[in-house]
Amino acid sequence: MHAVTFQAPGEVALAEVAEPALRAPDDVVVRVDASGICGSDLHIYHGRVPVEVGFTIGHEFVGTVLEAGPEVERVEVGDRVLGTFHTACATCTPCIRGDYHRCAHGRTFGHGSKLGDLQGAQAEKLLVPRANLTLRRVPEGMSDDVALFAGDVMGTGYHAVAHAGVKAGDTVAVLGLGPVGLCAVQAARASGAAQVFAIDTVAERLAMAERFGATPLHLADDDPKRAIRAATGAGVDVTVDAVGDPGPLALAVSLTRDAGVVSGIGAYAGKGEVPLGLAWLKGLQLRLGLANVIAHVDRVLALMQAGILDPAPLVTHHMSLADAPEAYRVYDAREALKIVLKP
Ligand SMILES: [Zn+2]
Ligand SMILES: [Zn+2]
Repeated sequence: MHAVTFQAPGEVALAEVAEPALRAPDDVVVRVDASGICGSDLHIYHGRVPVEVGFTIGHEFVGTVLEAGPEVERVEVGDRVLGTFHTACATCTPCIRGDYHRCAHGRTFGHGSKLGDLQGAQAEKLLVPRANLTLRRVPEGMSDDVALFAGDVMGTGYHAVAHAGVKAGDTVAVLGLGPVGLCAVQAARASGAAQVFAIDTVAERLAMAERFGATPLHLADDDPKRAIRAATGAGVDVTVDAVGDPGPLALAVSLTRDAGVVSGIGAYAGKGEVPLGLAWLKGLQLRLGLANVIAHVDRVLALMQAGILDPAPLVTHHMSLADAPEAYRVYDAREALKIVLKP
């Protein structure tokens, strides 16, 4: 079968790879009907996250169950399903606690041997371990484009808001309007936020956030700090950093009111300067880390089915698996928000 494989930094290729086969009794083999290219795939594309040459990449998918092991109870052959971007064992201590994102045996699709040695979803077929936890049936009438957000990007935007404890009537700022930030804007509105300030430098992304009900603020031209002070007095209750760099985190600290919450959902790496003194003085809570998408996926699907969350406008491109090298070039050039690949 064909799959999108990592070849070298800046180079992916469609390659002929082995067909997946059931190994464990709770495995499923899925025919992939659609897969997404994600911001984290760019870390692999650039060689920042090392994967083996020839490894199949991709971790967002919607498909149809082709084969299921004897212990698979929640989905059946022929079901249309979507998956979360990683698996969890459901029995280790973090899983028992509900912290599936910290599973001691978690495996991430399409991220090489270091992250669980699980081949990726940008392929014609996919092996899905722990299928009772990893897969959900796609709700009736939901498109592939929408469903493939549930197990990663929308789940992550939702997590940023849920993890911060956003309540009805809160004010929220979202820094960085990539797909996760835009989903966080929707999730904040869905959680009852009275006003959401959406901050970025790209006009189209600001316009989309405005369509989703946010007040757009251009990072350089609009002086977000002054605008938010003018609108809220003391600062916002919650700031979501969907960028994942020390600069935005420092801005988040300054935009948030005393005893508010900063929710860092972008992937931070290494060290950086953050105004800890100001954060301490303000008594801020910092909530950081990877999203617990398995914990949120049913709620996210329900909200998407109800149309309260709707990622469809984020899909800017549909391309074929064979076009993956061009798709990665386009995505890397930031000419696309979400590219959906079809076999
Ligand atoms: Zn992703
Ligand atoms: Zn576990």
